[in-house]
Amino acid sequence: MDPAPAPTTPVAPPAHESSAAAVPVVPAAASVGPLCNLCATGLRLSLPAELLTQSSCTHCLGVLPHADSLARALADTVREEVVAYDAPSFAVEIMLPRALAPRHTVYVERTGGYIAFEVRKEFAKSAVPVMEEVLGKTYSAEGPLRLLLAITHAETDAPIAARVAEARRPAKRGRFEGKGCKVDSPAPSEPEPLPFPPSTPTTLPTVGACTVRRDPIRLGGRYLKLERHISQTLWRIKGQRKTELSVAECVSFGLADMTQCDTEIGFIAAGREDADVRMLGTGRPFVLEVRNARKVDGIDPVALAERANTEFAGKVQVSRMCVVNKDEVKQVKDGEELKAKEYTCLVWAPGVDQRKVDEINALPAFQIDQQTPLRVLHRRPNLMRPKTVYWIRMEPLREGGPLYRVALETQAGAYIKEFITGDTGRTRPSLSTLLGTHADILELDVTKVALEWPPARKSQHSSTA
Ligand SMILES: [Zn+2]
Repeated sequence: MDPAPAPTTPVAPPAHESSAAAVPVVPAAASVGPLCNLCATGLRLSLPAELLTQSSCTHCLGVLPHADSLARALADTVREEVVAYDAPSFAVEIMLPRALAPRHTVYVERTGGYIAFEVRKEFAKSAVPVMEEVLGKTYSAEGPLRLLLAITHAETDAPIAARVAEARRPAKRGRFEGKGCKVDSPAPSEPEPLPFPPSTPTTLPTVGACTVRRDPIRLGGRYLKLERHISQTLWRIKGQRKTELSVAECVSFGLADMTQCDTEIGFIAAGREDADVRMLGTGRPFVLEVRNARKVDGIDPVALAERANTEFAGKVQVSRMCVVNKDEVKQVKDGEELKAKEYTCLVWAPGVDQRKVDEINALPAFQIDQQTPLRVLHRRPNLMRPKTVYWIRMEPLREGGPLYRVALETQAGAYIKEFITGDTGRTRPSLSTLLGTHADILELDVTKVALEWPPARKSQHSSTA
């Protein structure tokens, strides 16, 4: 491809590089396009009166002289949505027409205009008070309400969008290019230099896409799962639910109504148990991430827990529900991998004498090597993981077996079902090999997740179910 033609417009001498602020630059009038007063002043360019304009500014495209009406139009666009939130303040990010950045660059390069002049900042100065007035809320960079607003300018956006699309288009394949035949792709073409002065706009910018979001609110607590056949999160295969209930649905019961949030509520837990495994003892820590809540002033964690506990009595129970912060959420995620867990299980092991049981019960902590279980191999990498069994206690339900209640404590991440059965030799040693018989697991419960969480509050605003 031919190199891009050199710009033909004469380049203005680089003026006032070191003291741009001190003396206004006086470019040859013919070499600049019309500018608004605000841009002429901001760029520190002294212009003849006939080049000053209100609506056809070649630098800001009219954004600054019309800041007030544009801000009002932006605020009007989102007003109805914004007033639905009980947030007292808002943060705002305003996207301006894409052509502004290259136009500023070319003005600085060709006229020595003041580089640090920013249309964005100038626009915000005028726009924020107008938006505060229309929205009836105060501006705060901290949010929690975040407005993402756009001002577009179709006249100048379209050519830029076309250029971007062209640059992204994959190069055409040569005739002989294909499998095993490599052809050097042509170097990406240089963007066409912006003419100077840039084209004079004939239309004014308008309101583009606008979105309103609230920072997430997080609720933490612990859950008990008292019944089997409840998955931790919604479990669907080919559109079919595999369990009637999920823990995530139970513990977030009523929350979407209370907060008028987006319906998808995030769920994080310190580890997980299978659908057929109960979660007993003091429960497992979890976090609910409430996205885009319209109402947070009325969030009552105690009432929420009580509602869930009544609705799902005997199935899923929530305790210590409270509002938590981001750092506290991290403790739950870390806890998943670090904390020890205790379990009890019902094991079928025929032909075991009491002497063997006593031997097992006297074992000190020992290591097991677990190759990824066959049942999860389709979604987890095939790895060997060493895990520690801290202690194990076996007790026959009736003298002589073959049913045993087995309690044990292991390092986080150990697969208990496989430790009992041996998983066709993939877990070594297993309870089966230790007993010298085939042991099968009939029921499993998690009885302790050793993570003290959520942290106690000074004035604990939480349920004590
Ligand atoms: Zn301007």
